[in-house]
Amino acid sequence: QAAMARREITTKTECPYCSVQCTMNLHEEKSIMVSRYSVSPNKEDPVTDGRLCVKGLNAHVHAVDEGRLKYPMIREKGKLIKVSWDAALEKIREQLQTLQRKYGNDSIGVYGGGSLTNEECYVLGKFARIALQTKYIDYNGRFCMSAAAGASNLTFGIDRGLSNPLTEVPLAKCIILAGTNIAECQPTIMQYFRKARQEGCKIIVIDPRETATCSIADLHLKVKPGYDAALVNGMLKVILDEGYTDPGFLESRTNGYAELVEHVNKISLSEVAALTGVSPQLIAEAARMYGQAETGMIFTARGVEQHASGVANVRNFLNLVLVTGKIGKPGCGYGAITGQANGQGGREHGQKADQLPGYRLIENPEHRAYIAKVWGVPEEELPRKGVSAYEMMEAIDRGEIKGLIILGSNPIVSNPNSHLVERALKKLKFLLVIDLFESETARLANILLPGSAYLEDEGTMTQLEGRVLVRRALKPLPGKARLDWKIVCDIASVLGKGKYFPYQSAEEIFNELRVASKGGKADYYGMTYSLLEQQHGMFWPCPEEGHPGTPRMFEHRFEHDDGRAQLTPIEHQNPKEVATRKYPYLLTTGRVLQHYLSGVQTRNTSELNSKYPEPLLEIHPDSADEIGLVNGGHAKVTSKRGTIRLKVKFSHKIRPDTVFVAFHWGDDQCINRLTNPALDPTCKMPEFKVCAVQINPS
Ligand code: SF4
Repeated sequence: QAAMARREITTKTECPYCSVQCTMNLHEEKSIMVSRYSVSPNKEDPVTDGRLCVKGLNAHVHAVDEGRLKYPMIREKGKLIKVSWDAALEKIREQLQTLQRKYGNDSIGVYGGGSLTNEECYVLGKFARIALQTKYIDYNGRFCMSAAAGASNLTFGIDRGLSNPLTEVPLAKCIILAGTNIAECQPTIMQYFRKARQEGCKIIVIDPRETATCSIADLHLKVKPGYDAALVNGMLKVILDEGYTDPGFLESRTNGYAELVEHVNKISLSEVAALTGVSPQLIAEAARMYGQAETGMIFTARGVEQHASGVANVRNFLNLVLVTGKIGKPGCGYGAITGQANGQGGREHGQKADQLPGYRLIENPEHRAYIAKVWGVPEEELPRKGVSAYEMMEAIDRGEIKGLIILGSNPIVSNPNSHLVERALKKLKFLLVIDLFESETARLANILLPGSAYLEDEGTMTQLEGRVLVRRALKPLPGKARLDWKIVCDIASVLGKGKYFPYQSAEEIFNELRVASKGGKADYYGMTYSLLEQQHGMFWPCPEEGHPGTPRMFEHRFEHDDGRAQLTPIEHQNPKEVATRKYPYLLTTGRVLQHYLSGVQTRNTSELNSKYPEPLLEIHPDSADEIGLVNGGHAKVTSKRGTIRLKVKFSHKIRPDTVFVAFHWGDDQCINRLTNPALDPTCKMPEFKVCAVQINPS
């Protein structure tokens, strides 16, 4: 009988993991007793051409896992007890109101994530500002795109991840991939770079490791971690000295060239080589490849950006783009390769401490007035600017924030110096976590609420190109789980602010978001769900109905008031920690193919976890030999902030002065217990990518 009732349903959705947002077919084989799910690539996907990586092929597993949170839970006498939604919401109301009455509105913080839908990000920001009236809201995207965003804003006057669609990559004759390991982090877009190479493009990879992405490189500059800006200064020197600049472009579209020339004239290539560990010949070869190419693109990612000088590092790559005039034309542009699923949209709609929806600035009177009007509140009731994600953890540690609401994030694993983060979260009088699983952070919650996975969510995601995609709900929520945006609205209701959150669907939220973004830099006003579906997404800015969207930016003007881009001399700064006799190696961190962010989903997917079950210390055999390490044995790695024990993996592909560890694990496998929380002064990006460590056999 069960066999007779069996039927197969196939629906389309997007992978919940990285920023490519590959579309895929979800197959549900439904019988009376159970539903079985599987995933296959969508051959019609115009971006990925029917590809999925191993994460995408297993993306359904965590969402249908029996171990998902299914009921609201309240901690009593140290144990989490299942309760009704009414009981949980009443307790949340009581806790939030008690703390705010006693310690003020800013005693509560809100912490979001870059994998949430645009609608969830928007509602969360509005909730913090209106329902809680707290200045403390920020999100884990601070660790993702903030340096590239800061640099793009300062240089171009706007921040969109990629200035050109991926389809233009094969038009480039030279591509620089700096601190970005696309082959493991966004594998399905490797095809564009391979195609470019087939068409005669030269590819330069800048990375302290010979990553999988180097398989397509013509040149690999194995730079010392933390010395990217110095390396670019060397390239600028060659480009200016040998005349590969675009004088017409510099004259008509940029400011600051004279100051840049003065700065570059003082640079010595041999000094750059000594700092970076890359020979003058290789630096010159790279500069000539990029400078002489008729078209070219530069892409950066966290390897360049996750530094206390992250904004300056990216700005120097943008100097390279501008002096050669390689932007605003087919096959010419810049892109920051986002890591998180909605790293782009996550920073546009108001969950950043300093921003309101549409990239409006919270301290700008006109911007405040506009959003206050959209939300129907007096402008003076909107809180002022708060602090960044890690600074929120410090404020908690100092006792300034007493309660915290976390939606879809695992800060104990993803923040630097995570010993401090754990200590801080344990000091909270109230911690509410909304998530899919009992993550390392959720384990500390006073109240734990079951949220929604991507197969249950409806909403939009803005992928790395700036293309907005709509996602439809495909399956019911498990147990008593609720949609994330609905949970936020429910909390607003019990706080007496329900009239500001009257939404019946994600589409209603999107329609308000469109208005809130109208006239802002990330303008979505001209988009609707039906247009997004018909066109497989639209590129912002899309300022009015009927507008086709903007796949290529900067064709005629930049977004500063005078329409020009800003060149800026960048003085190299050493990393905040350099190798010393006590801490002789440089630790750098990153991702592996099988895992995503803090691993909450991928560590709960046995097909992925079994292939890469624990973090490994990648070390050059010569260095390992000096220390006395054995391949496959264990080592203790110690920085000024702590020690962890890791399995050793020898690799000839890494610099002998550098070691690498992936950051997807928690507890005593959490590499962020060691990383340096030194922050970039502009964007507050921590220095994840370099700290000094000591290594001993264990
Ligand atoms: Fe595509 Fe990224 Fe998902 Fe892999 S992880 S299938 S590249 S969206």
